[in-house]
Amino acid sequence: MAIRLGNNCVNCDHLMSDQMCKVHEVKVGNHYTCDSFNMKAELADDRDCTSCIRFEQDDCANPGKAAPGMMCAVWAPQSISA
Ligand code: SF4
Ligand code: SF4
Repeated sequence: MAIRLGNNCVNCDHLMSDQMCKVHEVKVGNHYTCDSFNMKAELADDRDCTSCIRFEQDDCANPGKAAPGMMCAVWAPQSISA
């Protein structure tokens, strides 16, 4: 199963720069989520072979098929930011 982004506040379009949630009008932290979660558009499609740490490496699961717009079950991020 591929790693995927979490549905937590840090990835939610309702989180404002001052850590306030537009929906609940309270400060929230990165570890929280709720039923109003809405993934930021710029994050929605960021996973494909070109963003995989295994791209063009010896441990790529599908070296003959890896390409932009493709991904497989062992996709893994190149770096973490949280
Ligand atoms: S809407 Fe929910 S998931 Fe989004 S920032 Fe507010 S509390 Fe977090
Ligand atoms: S085929 Fe799979 S392992 Fe290889 S680069 Fe694409 S997502 Fe990563």
